[in-house]
Amino acid sequence: MKVQRIYDRNASRLAILIIFFPYICFADTCLDWFKESKISKNDKACISKCTTLQMDMSTFSCSQECEKFCSTKCEPDSYWKSKIKDGRPEKWEPRVEKSLSWTNDEKEKLQAVLGQLPNVFKKIAFKGFYRMQRSSAIGNPGSIAESGQEIVVYNSAFDGPGLSLDKIVAHELAHAIFLNFSKRDIKDYETSLGWSVAYKGRARSGPFISNGARDNVDEDFATNIEYFLFAPEGLKSKVPKAYDWILNKFSKNFKLKEACEYEKK
Ligand SMILES: [Zn+2]
Repeated sequence: MKVQRIYDRNASRLAILIIFFPYICFADTCLDWFKESKISKNDKACISKCTTLQMDMSTFSCSQECEKFCSTKCEPDSYWKSKIKDGRPEKWEPRVEKSLSWTNDEKEKLQAVLGQLPNVFKKIAFKGFYRMQRSSAIGNPGSIAESGQEIVVYNSAFDGPGLSLDKIVAHELAHAIFLNFSKRDIKDYETSLGWSVAYKGRARSGPFISNGARDNVDEDFATNIEYFLFAPEGLKSKVPKAYDWILNKFSKNFKLKEACEYEKK
C-alpha cells in the first residue's frame, strides 16, 4: 500500500514534467534569441525590428513574443533612481527659474537614459537632478551648479526641437566630471588640446567638434564627451586629440551600455 502511493506520486511528477518541459525550453530559447539580437527595449522600432528577425521552431515562433519582450521596461538603476529629486538645488542663483515636479513619464525617460551611461558617471560626488520650467538663458535645455553636484533639466530637454535628452544628460554629467577633476587632470587636458596656450578669453586653435565647444575648456570637454559616447567615429576623425585623451583617461569601457545591461549584475 505504502509503496503503491510512492509509485503514483512519481508518475504524476513525470506527467507534469512532460507537459511543461517544452514550454520552458522554448520560452528560454526565445528570451536568449531576443537578448542576442541586441535590440534595445527602449528602441522605438523594437517591435518591428524584433518581428523581422524571425526564428521559427516548427511549433513555436519567437516573433510572437516580440510585443512582450519590447514592452518590458528596464528596472531603474537604484543609484540613479535616488538622484532624481523634486524641489530646488541648494544655492540656485537664477531666481526667475521655477521648479517643477517630475512626471512619471519624465522620470522613466531620464532613468532609461541614465541606465545606459558608463559607470564612470556614478563615481563622482553628485547630489541630484532637479526639474525646472525654463532656463534664464533662452532655449537652454540643462544647467549644472558651480559645485558640479546638481543638474537642472528644463522643459526644452523633453520638447526642444532637435534636442535629445540622452545627449543633454551626458553633456551635463560630463561638466560634473570636469568640475570634479583634480588640477592635474585639468592641466593635462588643457595642454593636450592646446588650451594652455590660448589667450585669456580666446578659444584654442581648432578643430572643434561643434561651435559650442569653442566657449571655454569646460564646454570643450563636455561636448567632446557627448560625441565620444554618441558619435565616436565623428570625434575620432575630427578631433583625434580629444578622442585619444578620453580613451586614455577612461579606457575602452567608456561607452554606452546595452539597454538593461546593468540588471545582469
Ligand atoms: Zn555645456
